[in-house]
Amino acid sequence: MALSEFDIIKHYFSGTTSARDDVALGIGDDCALLKVPAGMALAVSIDTLVEGIHFTPAAEPADLGYKALAVSLSDLAAMGAEPAWATLALTLPRPDPEWLGAFSAGFARLARRHRVQLVGGDTTRGPLTITVQVHGYVPEGRALRRGGAQEGDLVYVTGHLGDAGLALHILHGTVHPSATHRRAALRRLHRPPIRVQEGLALRDIANAAIDVSDGLVSDLGHILEASGMGATLHADELPLSEAFRSVGEQIGGWELALTAGDDYELCITVPASKEWELHKTIAGFSCSISWIGRIEKQPGLRVIRPDGSIASMDHQGYDHFRGSE
Ligand code: ADP
Ligand code: MG
Repeated sequence: MALSEFDIIKHYFSGTTSARDDVALGIGDDCALLKVPAGMALAVSIDTLVEGIHFTPAAEPADLGYKALAVSLSDLAAMGAEPAWATLALTLPRPDPEWLGAFSAGFARLARRHRVQLVGGDTTRGPLTITVQVHGYVPEGRALRRGGAQEGDLVYVTGHLGDAGLALHILHGTVHPSATHRRAALRRLHRPPIRVQEGLALRDIANAAIDVSDGLVSDLGHILEASGMGATLHADELPLSEAFRSVGEQIGGWELALTAGDDYELCITVPASKEWELHKTIAGFSCSISWIGRIEKQPGLRVIRPDGSIASMDHQGYDHFRGSE
């Protein structure tokens, strides 16, 4: 029996995620009705994944459901916003019950973990395209923005860098780490942990924040540009996982860790006066957080290599990078 648009919504998307009491009306009417708490600003972000561009036809639908929500949640995390609601626009070449079941389960699992309710969407036929909009809130005036970095701020990053980049190399067959390391890296690519609690905890500590989606050089570059600042990072301080360390030298080492995307860690800048508070707060985190450098007045991004020489990076990360000094 062919699934109608109505069947798809009813079976795969209604009532699958959290049930929140700030939802006056969820899926089923012309609009959802949502209650934003008094004194809060609504934080909204949207991301689209297109087959052939952001993922291959071989991608697991459960991973796609997870990741489509994850990349948007990561934007809320980077603003210090608390996730609340999501909407989903799904364009499908055909209504495949197996695909829909797995996709919906991957989506719902992450949604429930972060107490997100799916409150609406749109379902259409066409080339496979997944758009997720997330809505969260943050006390007015307290969102973590890109433009707040100050001279002398310490640059920190959560978790590990480069694992998603490593996973792509593994999939292309360029490196062959142990089975355990392979599994860990692929999991980081397909199911990146999203630093929502960390973002909330950092709200009153960090001066600026961004999530690392395009690679640290590029994303920290956005902070530097928006803040009118520069920075120096220490290659030796970059947090690399055991999996990455086991084969990293074969695929670019710290250069890859600085430029590869899809890690969804948070990069923050913290004033030295709040370092103690930061370390106290970190104790409650599920992930590590590492100091990697300092914000400076001098524009541009510099990296002190392990041998002590200095590399100047441009926003793509490579320009002056290979030949200099
Ligand atoms: P309309 O014609 O008013 O746009 P639709 O028939 O597109 O309504 O959708 C009916 C209801 O189902 C709406 O509440 C809509 O938000 C919801 N909906 C449609 N597609 C999805 C989806 N993929 N995920 C969640 N809710 C959806
Ligand atoms: Mg519609």
